[in-house]
Amino acid sequence: MTAQRVTLLGATGSIGASTLDVIARHPDRYRVFALTAHSRIEELARLCRLHQPEVAVVSTAADADRLAALLPGQAISLRYGPDALCEVAAAPEADAVMAAIVGSAGLLPTLAAVQAGKRVLLANKESLVMSGALFMREVARSGAVLLPIDSEHNAIFQCLPAGFRQGLPQVGVERLLLTASGGPFRGWSQAQMRDVTPEQAVKHPKWSMGRKISVDSATLMNKGLELIEACWLFGTSLDHVQVVVHPESIVHSLVQYVDGSTLAQLGNPDMRTPIALGLAWPERIPAGVSALELFATGSLHFEAPDEALFPCLRLARQAMEAGGTVPAMLNAANEVAVDAFLDRRLRFTDIPVLIEQTLTQLPMMAANELPTILEADSQARDLARRLLPVSA
Ligand code: NAD
Ligand code: MG
Repeated sequence: MTAQRVTLLGATGSIGASTLDVIARHPDRYRVFALTAHSRIEELARLCRLHQPEVAVVSTAADADRLAALLPGQAISLRYGPDALCEVAAAPEADAVMAAIVGSAGLLPTLAAVQAGKRVLLANKESLVMSGALFMREVARSGAVLLPIDSEHNAIFQCLPAGFRQGLPQVGVERLLLTASGGPFRGWSQAQMRDVTPEQAVKHPKWSMGRKISVDSATLMNKGLELIEACWLFGTSLDHVQVVVHPESIVHSLVQYVDGSTLAQLGNPDMRTPIALGLAWPERIPAGVSALELFATGSLHFEAPDEALFPCLRLARQAMEAGGTVPAMLNAANEVAVDAFLDRRLRFTDIPVLIEQTLTQLPMMAANELPTILEADSQARDLARRLLPVSA
């Protein structure tokens, strides 16, 4: 068997680390073609020494020089900037691309991988939220194999019939149930959440993840983005997707069929499981994750989300209903709000307020073309920044 060559966009992140862990377990099956990172150049240098990629991409010329200095004598092509990121995502040498850059910075490289017809392992949900219709159109046109890495969507993918493309009713699916841990503030009051610190918000009870997605999990915007992601990935509408809070994070999502069957995927909360499935599908390979010990797992709980306390879920649903560029604007405003919260310039409870203010002041446009989507993203980003309080 010739090894598949993998490009890893966002190698220094949490998904990046889990992906490299799975790859390293299967040197016969996978080789790293390219690694990319935005910061943490020393960490990228360490990964380059360990995994010997042919190419590494960073954001600036200065960082490329720093990386070169850290890798004396290593045969590696060092590149920088957004164009290099897209080129490496589409490079003919690679078979598979893990899209694990966080946020809107992932849009263009992820789309480049899709347009090049790669096996695309999609962790960067923001790219699909921003450009849903266009993204799925490009998948269909290029023949890219799109594999959801988000644990919930990966679970749904596993519970759907093999070879499922589009059309849930055709395969007898009535409803998708998207589970949510509820984040660190499940059950807290509005008053308790007012003074939440970034340290508290990024401390997720069940998953160890990057800072941005951890804050999104705490506000439930992550579940809002995932609702939108599910609609695009599985070609369905919001009324066929229900969010279910499940604090144990053992059931990763469920599919309900017309005959009364509910299929679920269960497992320990470890991203190496969906990543291994994405790499090997339709085969299965060891991921370094132990099987569930049901006697030790104990009881599982399920409850409805509280949208009054976590308005981000409502905002995401409304954005998807409005359609066009609104999900891209929601995503942009959220990125500004999360950054400001992490910088202690915005209260936790003002994250949804800032997003809603931004969305109500901007017009919706059709989102068929990339320039319109990028323009909506930058308008929403600029407006959200202007709406930020001078001091929190
Ligand atoms: P992270 O913050 O740990 O890592 C982000 C990576 O993106 C880093 O390698 C960073 O260098 C790179 N990056 C950041 N800004 C960039 C820019 N402007 N240009 C180029 N590269 C840039 O994030 P993460 O937790 O690994 O999440 C990555 C993506 O996967 C996100 O979209 C997230 O929603 C999704 N995801 C993550 C998890 C998880 O368990 N961590 C689960 C599901 C989905
Ligand atoms: Mg998820």
